This record gives sequence, C-alpha cells and structure tokens, in this order.
Amino acid sequence: MFFDIMSLVFEKDLKGGNMSQKYVYQFSEGNGSMRELLGGKGANLADMTSLGMPVPQGFVVTTEACNKYYDDGQIVTDSLVDEIFAHVAEIEKTSGKVFGDATNPLLLSVRSGSRASMPGMMDTILNLGLNDEVVEGIAKLSGNTRFAYDSYRRFIQMFADVVMELPKHNFEVIIDEMKEEKGIVLDTQFDDDDLKEMVRRFKAYYFKHKNEEFPSDPRFQLVESIKAVFRSWNNPRAIYYRRLNDIPSSWGTAVNVQMMVFGNMGDDCGTGVAFTRNPATGEKKLYGEFLMNAQGEDVVAGIRTPKDIEELKDIMPHAYDEFVEICDKLEAHYKDMQDMEFTIESGKLYMLQTRNGKRTAAAALKIAVDLVNEGMISKEKAVLQVNPTQLDALLHPQFDEKALKAASPIGRALPASPGAASGKVALSAASAVAMKEKGMKAILVRLETSPEDIEGMHVSEGILTARGGMTSHAAVVARGMGTCCVSGCGEIKFGKDNTFTLGGKTFKEGDDISLDGTTGNIYGEAIATVPASISGDFETLMSWADSFRTLQVRANADSPVDAKQAYDFGAQGIGLVRTEHMFFEGERIKAMREMILSKNEEQRRKALDKLLPMQREDFTGVFESMQGYPITVRYLDPPLHEFLPTKTEEIEELAKEMNLSVAQLEEVVDSLHEFNPMMGHRGCRLAVSYPEIAEMQTRAVIEAAITVNKNHPDWNLVPEIMIPLVGEVKELAYVKSVVVKTADEIIKEAGIDMKYLVGTMIEIPRAALLANEVAQEAEFFSFGTNDLTQMTFGFSRDDAGGFLSHYYDKNIYEQDPFARLDQKGVGQLVQMACEKGKEARPNIKLGVCGEHGGDPASIDFFHRVGLQYISCSPFRVPIARLAAAHAALKNK
Ligand code: ADP
Ligand code: MG
Ligand code: MG
Repeated sequence: MFFDIMSLVFEKDLKGGNMSQKYVYQFSEGNGSMRELLGGKGANLADMTSLGMPVPQGFVVTTEACNKYYDDGQIVTDSLVDEIFAHVAEIEKTSGKVFGDATNPLLLSVRSGSRASMPGMMDTILNLGLNDEVVEGIAKLSGNTRFAYDSYRRFIQMFADVVMELPKHNFEVIIDEMKEEKGIVLDTQFDDDDLKEMVRRFKAYYFKHKNEEFPSDPRFQLVESIKAVFRSWNNPRAIYYRRLNDIPSSWGTAVNVQMMVFGNMGDDCGTGVAFTRNPATGEKKLYGEFLMNAQGEDVVAGIRTPKDIEELKDIMPHAYDEFVEICDKLEAHYKDMQDMEFTIESGKLYMLQTRNGKRTAAAALKIAVDLVNEGMISKEKAVLQVNPTQLDALLHPQFDEKALKAASPIGRALPASPGAASGKVALSAASAVAMKEKGMKAILVRLETSPEDIEGMHVSEGILTARGGMTSHAAVVARGMGTCCVSGCGEIKFGKDNTFTLGGKTFKEGDDISLDGTTGNIYGEAIATVPASISGDFETLMSWADSFRTLQVRANADSPVDAKQAYDFGAQGIGLVRTEHMFFEGERIKAMREMILSKNEEQRRKALDKLLPMQREDFTGVFESMQGYPITVRYLDPPLHEFLPTKTEEIEELAKEMNLSVAQLEEVVDSLHEFNPMMGHRGCRLAVSYPEIAEMQTRAVIEAAITVNKNHPDWNLVPEIMIPLVGEVKELAYVKSVVVKTADEIIKEAGIDMKYLVGTMIEIPRAALLANEVAQEAEFFSFGTNDLTQMTFGFSRDDAGGFLSHYYDKNIYEQDPFARLDQKGVGQLVQMACEKGKEARPNIKLGVCGEHGGDPASIDFFHRVGLQYISCSPFRVPIARLAAAHAALKNK
C-alpha cells in the first residue's frame, strides 16, 4: 500500500512538471494517425477535415484528459476548462456564432469516442447551449418556432438522461400524457404552443426530482457533459464490452465537441447513415438510409421508416453527388469499407462521422478478397483485415433468417458456445442418446453437466444449462465439440415431475426448443436452421493466411469424428487426444469401473485387458483420419472418482453388476473422495500407482500405430505419447521406463522399425521451473495452460467463475485468465520452460494444448515465444490458422 501511494505521488510529480501539456485539439490540428489520443471518431473527423470534406467544426478533448480526470479523483481542472473554452472561441471565430448568445447562438453536440468504437458508451448530447433566451434566438433566426422548441425539449431530455441520470423514459411519459390530453397520436401533430408547454413540463419535472432548476448556463452544460462522457468510460456496460473485446481500461475515451448542423429545420434538410459496401454481403454498392427533416437518432429509432439512399439522388441530386464522391475518396483513403453518418442542412451536405464499417464474417471475407483484386490492398493487409474470432460465425449451423425474425425469445443466458440449434428437449444424457437413435434432434437441458454426460452432449444439437459460466464444464466441452451451448440460465426452474419452466412456459421431454449460442437467446419453439457454408472467398483468404504463418495448427480431438472435422478445417495434426473421454461411453464405463474397483493388480489387469481392444480401435480410427499428420496421445488424466456413480440408484445398480454390497461399493467411493481432486490422485500419479494402466495404454497406441503404418507405408506415423501432470523429472522417468519397455517389446516382436516419442505436458509450475531437468527425459513439451493457469493463480477453473466477476467489476482482472493467457505470470513460466527446455534438448518439440491455443491474443504470444504448434478445438482451427498468420505478420 505504502509503495502504491509513493508511486502515485511520484507519478503526479512528473506530470505536474509538464504544465504545458495539450489536452484539447481542434479538428484542424489532428489527423488519422492520432487515434490513441483523439479516439477513433475524433481522429477521423480530423482526417476528413484535412481532406477538405465538409465537417462541422469542432475539437477533441483527448483520452489523456480522461485518464487525468480519473488520476485527479474525478475532477476537471480549471486549466482544462480554460483550454476547452479557448477552443470554443476558435469555433466562434470561424463560424461567426457565439456560444450562449441569444441573438446569434452557437449550439454544440457532445460525443464520446474511444480508440475502438464502443456501443456501451455514453449517448450523444445534441443541441447543447440552449436555454430560455437562446431558444427564442434560434426561433427568430430560423423563422421556425416549432423547430426551436423541439430542439430544446430534446436537449432537456438528453441532458437530464445522460448527465443527470433522470431516465429519458420518464419524459416520454409526459409526452404521452400530453398526446392523450390533446387526443393526438403523432409527435408531428404538436403545435408551437404544445412544444413550449412540453418544455415547461419537462423543466418542472426536472425541478421536482433534482430539487434545482434545469441548468441554463451553457458553459456549465458543456463542462458537465464532458464529465459525463469521462464517467461513462467506467459504466458497467462499457466495462463488460471492454472485457468481451479485449480493450484495456487504460485507453480512456476522448470527447468530441462539435458545432451543430440541423437536419430537422425543414424539407431541404435530412440526416442519414451509409456504408460504401453492403455490410451483410460485402457487395460493392453504396448501402444506406436517410430521413428528410430529422435529427440524430431518428433514423435508427424506427419511428419513421427511412428511405433508401438511392432515393436521395432524386430528392437532392446535388448533395447526393457530393456524397458519392466523398464515399469514394474515403474508401480510397482508408482502403477499407466505410460506415458514414451525414446531415444535410438547407441543402448543404455535412459529414459527421466515418469509420471502418462493422460487417458480417461473410462480408469481411468478400471485401478483403475484393480489395486485393481491385488492387487496393496487399494480401498481407487483406489477411490482417479479417478478425479471426469473427470466422466462428461461419463454422456452425445458422438459423434461417426469416424464421428467426418470426420468433421471439422466452429467455436469455450466457452465449457459451456459438451456433444455432433447434430440437426436442432431453432432460438427461440417456434420453438425448435415445432420441438420437430414433433420428430426432435433441437439445440437452440440465442443471449443469458433468463428465458423465459427455455422450449425451455429443449427440445433442445444443446444450442448455441452468448453472455455470463461460468456462463451466458444459461451456468448455460444447466449444470443444463445436456444439451450440447457452449456459447459466438461472430462470430455469426444474419441477419434480421431469419438467422445467422458463418464460412462463412448462417444458417436458420432447417439447420443441431452440438455442442461439451466439446471442444466448432461448426460444420455446422450433426454428429452421441452415448448415454452415464456406464460400470461395473463405478458402482464398485462408490460403493466403497459411502462406504467411509459421505456427503449425493442430486440433484437440478425442474421436475419429472430431479428428475428421479437424482435418477438414485444415488441422495439421492432433495436439491432444484425451483418452479418458473414450471411457465414458456404453460398455466401456463398466470395464473402467471394474478396473477402479479391483482389489489387486491381477484383477486390474483383467479389467484393463477388456479396455485394451476398445482403446486400440479408437486410436486406430483417430490415426487413420489424420492422413499421417502427427498425433499426441495423452495418458489417463482425471481422478478416478469421476468414473464412479454418485446417485444412489446408480450405485445400487453398479454394486449388483460388480457383485458387491452397496455398503462395500460406497466404501470404495468414499475412499476415493479427495478434498481437492484437482490436486489429487490424477495424471501421471495414477501411472506411478498403477503402472499397468500406462502399459495397457502404450500397447494400444503402439499396436494401433503399427496397423496404420502397415496400411499406409508412406505415412511414417510417429506416435507421440504424452504423460500428464508431471512435476518432477523422476516421476516422468519412471512412467517413461514403463512406456519404453512395453513399446520396444511390441515393436521388436512385430519385427519392424517404428519410431515413437515420449514427452510431457507442462502444467505444474514446478515442471516449468525445472524444465531443463524435465527435458532430459521429455522429447517434447506441450503446455497444458488450463492447469498451468489454475495452479499458478491458485484458483480452480470450475470455481473461479463464481468470484471472477467481482474482479472484473473492480478492474482487478480485465480478462478471464482461462480464456486469455495471462502473459505476465503464466506466460513467464511458458517462456522460461521453452528456454530451459531448449537448453537441455535443442531439438525439443514445443506446443500448447490448453484452451488458449484457440485464442488469438494468446496465439500471438505463443508465436513470439517460439512454439512450433498450437492445438485447439476442431471448430477453432480456421480461427487459429488466421490468428497465427496475424501473429507472423504483426511480429515481422
Ligand atoms: P454514436 O457513436 O452512437 O453513433 P454519435 O456521436 O455519432 O454517436 O452521434 C449520433 C448522432 O447524433 C449522429 O449520427 C448525428 O446524427 C447526430 N449528431 C452528432 N453530432 C452532430 C452535429 N454536430 N450536428 C448534427 N447532428 C449531430
Ligand atoms: Mg455515430
Ligand atoms: Mg491438465
């Protein structure tokens, strides 16, 4: 604490020394390269100004001013106020209008604008500078009393809402009251006197709730509005949005203050938005809408139906031509599709904003490829222009758009795994399996899922849980399988009679339900879906990406089906085959339980003999599906109790099967109970206790590889055997000796020459610290960053969801460390282990197989520390390929 305060004092000192720092820039002083300082909106307004385009004058209060506001304890200093009004004076000088003057008034808009565009931020305030005198001046100058008072009442509404936290809605109530009194339905039916009366009522309402008059001093209005923008940087919506989009809180937001132009002054006025290309399809054609005689949000508010931008050509050909010319210039300047806002005041066009337009994944691909073909950008730039995460939308089934529009959601929860799913409610894994066997599409609805549900999850179209966060079992497994999942829907109430209720509707097994894993919406009806479509542009862009990246991309896959999917999506191997998932299905779980319940080695070996052929068959299938690419098989990892039942009736059933009394079985289950299973008897510790398990798994891997190599002599498959949860070189050496002895015997017996590798996961901090020792035995390292994160932070992945949200709210952590690698701490261990590992074994293979292997920011880190491959879930392979290309291009 002491040090924190000292460093703060010291920092202030430094800043204090720099009295002349500039915090406000006129648009004409800035340019597009100043995004960090001016925010995206401000930098581009400055850019358009310097390109000679018609931009209403204004200035930007910088992001540094925002950060200073917070450093100073949320105050705006006198010197900043002075600087702001010096810039207002600039506008006054060139416009010939005066802020706060009743005869020739200047009105302003106040707009937020951070470096990245953020929808969670403050609403814009328009018509600032109005009061009872100024409004009269506006009425006189425009000859339009209605317009003047309409602007005034809008300003009161916006200012009260945004700055003073009096909800806008309450003012709408007043408007509705007045409509009722007058017996009218439309805003446009109010006359001059009505609007004056409305202003009076708004102000009275304001007084009643705030115990003070509505602020009439324009200078006060401006300073308070600027403060409100600064405050909005830390509102809950903004914080949430930042976390989702990886935007650090240290960026701060800029504030744009701009002279008002009026699109609502008459029939030669209007306002609109447009894109230089179609943001849904990417088609190269101006796309947009406008409204005549309207202001600001009217276009998006949906009260009046906007017109197609094409129609502007007939209504105001002059303004239209100028606009089209500007569109072309802007696209050529930014070399990307632009999203623009404009207003026409008395026939004259003004540009209010331009930015690189948001677009669907399909449009992003088409635009990137088109821009290359048009000679506008290079292939490198095209690859960098497409956001890897966005590709996700193209890799899962989608709702039919028309059908989705017709439906309305009955609930909403966390969008845990993207895609669309429609099917019948299944309330247990078993009934999902049964439905699948009957050719029905099942949606698994559970309180939460556990490893036992794996088969049911696999056969389901979608998964819905009442509990659990974005990293819960259901979420992680669903993402891995590419299955749509909505998790943590607390409104679901399960009934005793195998039903649940949601949104006032009671569901039983077999009822229709649909999930949108991209938005988290839940629908109580069937909605048609269409399969993922991969267009030609997708392929083209991916081939460019592949030519730039140096990281190999593998997948985590446990079954031939997953492996095939991974191969189809371009995986160059499998970085993680989790052998335990294979043990849950059907007859296997029985043999597995028999093994666990064995009293001695002999019994255990007997049970393992039953598992051997199944495991060998699985490996053969997985090896066959990857066309000779390298495959890493991880040996049994989870604590054994996960394979045993917990419910009484299941225990009774198992006891009968195993010829045990219920009490005996319960005793075994109890004896396997651990206080902290994550740190318990699992990973290589199982093989140290029961080496015969490792023996059996080795036999399965080696025999499968021999078969596959016989079938495909040109593949030269070298299986990679991975020992999990190693913390000490001697434990690895011990398990490795079991593996090598078994493998060499089999290979010798077969009379062939086949290579195999034995390596380890680095997932215990101690293994990273002593990586030079571990590398004496390990021929490869694969970073298991899930466990490594868990053990480095000291909190469990399954429990952290419960309290991490408090950390986000308080800005202690900005990201979920299980989704995005903590480069500072966990990353340091990764980097250290790479260096030490290479010291001891220069040709050591290095890769990663945690969830982070599919996260673009983490992939950038893995590229920089020199890993050879990343491994992620099959459905993230294209994302990882593109992210790896980004990493290579950005770190050139
Ligand atoms: P957002 O970031 O939500 O798009 P903006 O700051 O772009 O918010 O403002 C929203 C709308 O307000 C603009 O599209 C425009 O119609 C209107 N607006 C903003 N500034 C002005 C201005 N100086 N003159 C006229 N209209 C303005
Ligand atoms: Mg805007
Ligand atoms: Mg692990």
